[in-house]
Amino acid sequence: MRRLLAFSLTLALTAAAFAQTTPTERAAAAEILQEIEALQARINPTEKAQKMAARNDAQRDAIFERIEKLWTSEMRALSDYIGQNPEVGWHEFESVDTLTSVLRFYGFDVETGQAGLETAFVGGWDSPAGAEGPTLGIIVEYDALRGTQGAFHGCQHNAQSPVGFAVAIALSEYMEREGVAGRIRVYGTPAEEMGPPAKTIMYEAGVFDEADMLIRSHGSDETARGRAGFGVCCLNINEVKYTFKGRPAHQRSSWHGRNALAAAVQFYTAVDHLRPTFRPEASIQGVIPEGGIAPNVVPDRAVVDYYFRYPDEVYLEHMQQMIDNAARAAALATGTEVEIDRYGEYRDGITVGSLEELFFAYAEKLGAPNINPEPQRPAGYEETGFVTRGIPGVGISVFTSAAAGHSYERWQDSMKPVGHIGFLYDAQIMAAVLYHFLNEEDFRKTVAEEHRILSGLFDQYLERLRETYGDEIGGAAARQ
Ligand SMILES: [Zn+2]
Repeated sequence: MRRLLAFSLTLALTAAAFAQTTPTERAAAAEILQEIEALQARINPTEKAQKMAARNDAQRDAIFERIEKLWTSEMRALSDYIGQNPEVGWHEFESVDTLTSVLRFYGFDVETGQAGLETAFVGGWDSPAGAEGPTLGIIVEYDALRGTQGAFHGCQHNAQSPVGFAVAIALSEYMEREGVAGRIRVYGTPAEEMGPPAKTIMYEAGVFDEADMLIRSHGSDETARGRAGFGVCCLNINEVKYTFKGRPAHQRSSWHGRNALAAAVQFYTAVDHLRPTFRPEASIQGVIPEGGIAPNVVPDRAVVDYYFRYPDEVYLEHMQQMIDNAARAAALATGTEVEIDRYGEYRDGITVGSLEELFFAYAEKLGAPNINPEPQRPAGYEETGFVTRGIPGVGISVFTSAAAGHSYERWQDSMKPVGHIGFLYDAQIMAAVLYHFLNEEDFRKTVAEEHRILSGLFDQYLERLRETYGDEIGGAAARQ
């Protein structure tokens, strides 16, 4: 009985740790998950990582010391300063001014306005020993949350750039001193907390193209790594705006007009009527931010803004097509026109076991606080998923607050010892992972290979999902 219980507990834990949520997803993923297990067994990343972290290495330890010095003498105060001067997404002007001037001071070439985004930047540094070596990419963020009492850093993004800078500076000094070839790129990415997704825009514009791997830190309520595979924290999301355009007219001769608000309301109601047609895991929420100005003028413009979420992107696309059709139907029924703007997408990301396990091995070695030994659901290292599909990487998250995410308490913790200590661990672990990637060709190959295989398996998974759903998705045309 006890054994049986232990066995089913293991099963439950395993199921929870994988990213598949629905029975359909699990059916589609079954064989693929076995292949991921087999891949991990072959690579054996946990044991490898523990051996790498256990090695004596004076250069690496000197980098740790340098990072501690940079953090306590300068970067910690910079983190607090950004924390005390929060700016919301797309308006991080003063934060970016402050941060980029620090990077420039340390010899990085900084270009702002990347991908046409005013508060996006890249800080580049090429080793004097040559740029042929690996290119290490560090992603940093700096946007605050919108709150009823003004902007606040409840997600602790204030620390991310100072943490990333300590890593970039310490590594550049090491590479210069020891004649190690390679390049460092610090990617300043705006507006993590609001759409449209800046990292996707930057990725599509080729901003990250140079990077051989990407690393990022984030505040957390525990020190935990992800399991290898694919998944996302908060469901696959489409952010879509529907703009209905009609014709204005006086209220007393409204038949000359075409009412865009009527179209928007019809559409909004039609989406509610579609809900039972969709699987229960669907999460749909919309608002009508524009619905006309004056009651005595027929509204010629109305906007409906929706977030559609579903555990997998295949079914999400099916929902999307039905909902888009409902919008077109509402326009047709009211003699108006509709413009459909899918302004944001968030998707399953790829989590690479070799990198996650190295992060974790160093978290254990250095004694990071509040360690959760259980690997978590894979969720990629950045929120859009798209960058993780193109470039292998890892997110480092050490315990920095016990308070709820997006709370005022978590903001305050970012400027207290609990945050300060965790951020220093973040920086040292990031540097260690990059140090191994920079110096060990075998490790680079393993990472690239694992990422490539996982990407291939992910494509197969999507194909299996399409097969498993069959004619439940794809609309009438696909069934004929
Ligand atoms: Zn965040």
